[in-house]
Amino acid sequence: MSSDTAKNFSSLETPGYVGFANLPNQVHRKSVKKGFEFTLMVVGESGLGKSTLVNSLFLTDLYPERIIPDAVEKQKQTVKLDASTVEIEERGVKLRLTVVDTPGFGDAIDNSDSFSAILEYIDEQYERFLRDESGLNRRNIVDNRIHCCFYFISPFGHGLKPLDIEFMKKLHSKVNIVPVIAKADCLTRKEIQRLKTRILQEIEENGIKIYPLPDCDSDEDEDYKEQVKQLKEAVPFAVCGATTLLEVKGKKVRGRLYPWGVVEVENPDHCDFIKLRTMLITHMQDLQEVTQEVHYENYRSERLAKGIKKNGALKEADSTTTASNGVITDKDRILQEKEAELRRMQEMLAQMQAKMQAQK
Ligand code: GDP
Repeated sequence: MSSDTAKNFSSLETPGYVGFANLPNQVHRKSVKKGFEFTLMVVGESGLGKSTLVNSLFLTDLYPERIIPDAVEKQKQTVKLDASTVEIEERGVKLRLTVVDTPGFGDAIDNSDSFSAILEYIDEQYERFLRDESGLNRRNIVDNRIHCCFYFISPFGHGLKPLDIEFMKKLHSKVNIVPVIAKADCLTRKEIQRLKTRILQEIEENGIKIYPLPDCDSDEDEDYKEQVKQLKEAVPFAVCGATTLLEVKGKKVRGRLYPWGVVEVENPDHCDFIKLRTMLITHMQDLQEVTQEVHYENYRSERLAKGIKKNGALKEADSTTTASNGVITDKDRILQEKEAELRRMQEMLAQMQAKMQAQK
C-alpha cells in the first residue's frame, strides 16, 4: 500500500476512538438526540475471529460472559443467535449498537439447519418491525433489523467454500453482505491479493449480490472520492483483530505479538481493519437506507402480497432483481426501489378494489 493510502486513513487511526461522532453529518439532528441505532450481524465458522474483531472495532467487550463449547457439545448444538447491545457515546453522539453473533454456524456435520436459524432470525426482525410500524406506537419503534452482515471467509481455503456460496445466495436478498477475509495476518500480501481476486470471481460467477458501496456524486470533494475508491478496491476486506494493547515505537497500539514482530490491527499497511471500520462508519446511513428501501421493502411487499394472494387479489411479486455481475449496482437499486413502489401501488389498488367489492 502506498504512503498516500496510509495518509488517507490516518485520521481514522486514533486509538480509543471509533469515529462515529461525525454521524450527525449523515443523519438528521433529531436522530442524534435520540441516538443512532444500528444492528450488525457477524456470520462465519466459529474460531475465525468474529468476536475479537467486533470487540476491536467498537473498543468494547461485547461478550463478557462467553462460554466456548467443546466438540462434543458442538455436535449436539444448533446455531444459537446471540444479540448483544451496547450504547457507545462519542463527543455527545450516542450509538445503540447491537451485534448479532451466530455461534455454532458451520460446526455441525449437516449445516442446513444453520442456515434456517439465521434466515428466520432476519425475517423475525422484519416481521416485528412491520407489526410495530402498523401499530399505534409508531414513534418509538426499536429497529432491530439487520443493517449489515459481515460474512467471514476463512483465510485457509482457496476461496469460498460450497457452504459460503450456498448461504450467501440465501442471505443476499435479505441483508447487506460485506465479505471479509478473517485472520489476514496468516497470509502474505500476495496470498491476500490472490484470495481476494478468487473470492470476487466466485461471487460474480455465482450471482451473489454483495453490498455495493454507492458511487460518489460528482460534486463530492476529491479526498472523499479517493477514500471511496480505495474502499471499493479493498473488498473483500482482509482483516485481523486483537484486543491487546502493545507498545510499538513508544506508541500504544492494538496488535498481535508474534515471535517475529507485531501485527498492528489499525495499521493500514498490515490489514484492512481501518478500511472496514471506515466503510461501516461512513456508510451507516446508506446501509440503513438500503435495508429499509430494498431488503425490508421486499420483505414487506412479499408478505403483503402473500396475504392478498390468499384473497385472490394479487399475484405474488418477484422479490429480487439479480444483477449479472454479482453486485447490486446503483441502477439495480433504483430499479428495485421502483419495483417496490410499483408493488406498493398495486397493493393499494388491490385493497381499494377489495373495499369497493365489499361495499357493492
Ligand atoms: P469466533 O469464534 O469467530 O468468535 O472467534 P474468536 O474471536 O473467539 O477467535 C478465535 C481464536 O482466534 C482466538 O484464539 C483468537 O485469539 C484468535 N484470533 C482472533 N482474531 C485473530 C486474527 O485476526 N488473527 C489470528 N491469527 N488469530 C485471531
